[in-house]
Amino acid sequence: MHSRLPLACRSLTAGVLLSALLAGCSASVEPDEALRPSKPALASTPAPESSATSEPKEFSLMVTGDVLLHPPLLEQARSAAKSGYGKDYDFSALLAGLKPYANDADAALCNLETPIGTPPYSGYPRFTVPAQILSDLKSIGYDGCTTATNHTVDAGTSGVNRTLDALEEQELFATGSYRSKKEAQEPPIMQIDGIKLGVIASSFSLNGLPEAADWQVDTGVDAQKLIQRGKSARQDGADVVVAAIHDGTEYSNRPTAQQRKLGRELAESGVFDFIYMHHTHSALPIEKHDGTWIVYGLGNSVAKHATKTILNREGISVKATFSHDEKSGDWKVSQLQWVPHMLSQSPVAWCQVFEASACLPEADAKASLARTTATVNAYGAFDDGLEDWKIE
Ligand SMILES: [Zn+2]
Repeated sequence: MHSRLPLACRSLTAGVLLSALLAGCSASVEPDEALRPSKPALASTPAPESSATSEPKEFSLMVTGDVLLHPPLLEQARSAAKSGYGKDYDFSALLAGLKPYANDADAALCNLETPIGTPPYSGYPRFTVPAQILSDLKSIGYDGCTTATNHTVDAGTSGVNRTLDALEEQELFATGSYRSKKEAQEPPIMQIDGIKLGVIASSFSLNGLPEAADWQVDTGVDAQKLIQRGKSARQDGADVVVAAIHDGTEYSNRPTAQQRKLGRELAESGVFDFIYMHHTHSALPIEKHDGTWIVYGLGNSVAKHATKTILNREGISVKATFSHDEKSGDWKVSQLQWVPHMLSQSPVAWCQVFEASACLPEADAKASLARTTATVNAYGAFDDGLEDWKIE
């Protein structure tokens, strides 16, 4: 997120924008002509410079991997809340490392792997987690989450609906699962400072569980269907379209052949400005193909797997900066930045590994940086312009 608009005013879907404006956001929502405050200027006041109301020429999007709250993370958050302020769970220490990055981007999107539930919460194989995770994600700077994963229907329709209600309560953008056919048919467009960002989410699987209706979750990794959805988002007004795909083989450090083919087909279609994926709980390479960046696997944001492999403690977060080309009218990723991270053991916390910190033993951070760097660069991302994302 950034300072042009207050957080509460930036991340709203069209449906809730008006009520937010009435709640006091109107003075800052300047890029949208229709929503400009109507207070008349005094006759003697000079007209504002046109640049003050022009459309932004650049914006940045942070995307991060799976928010997967295994039971040990709930225990940790429950202990943290005991010394807190009346919350049942407090995930802020777990997420704190992400905050400066979320604040460095105009918008931040998470991937919410599991449904929100009610006590008692549950872990693998059918997860439910407390709604406090969403208020804590919001408070560190997230603007929305994708919700199409292999765990989306773990708690059935009530879990899908409860999750979307909780996201809406936090005024977080969501796409990937829906409460009604009507909601599923609305364009998946997130507003960022007057820019319309189309987010095409999809999950390869629902872990064998049935959807209540075929519109309930965006599923399938068929390139042509995803391309068609991207085209529809453009027809519905999206300035920029990204694909957020939940796919791959767990704990691997390379995409599957099918996954790479999918990423490349989406890139070659010209419909997507940026493509990213999650689900493997491990970092995968980044590739620029046919002029479009593909991030094959972000890994986890936060998790605590029972399966012991160093790879599921590692992930990457990415900031894509989009710039507007006046001649063509197109938006393109003008800069892609990455930050590698590792989850500390006890307590679990998100820790960047570019630089030494108190978060992890130095040797662990160095080894993780070397490992993730080699993975991310397997297809030549640095030669193609991938840059480090370091916060001053
Ligand atoms: Zn998954």
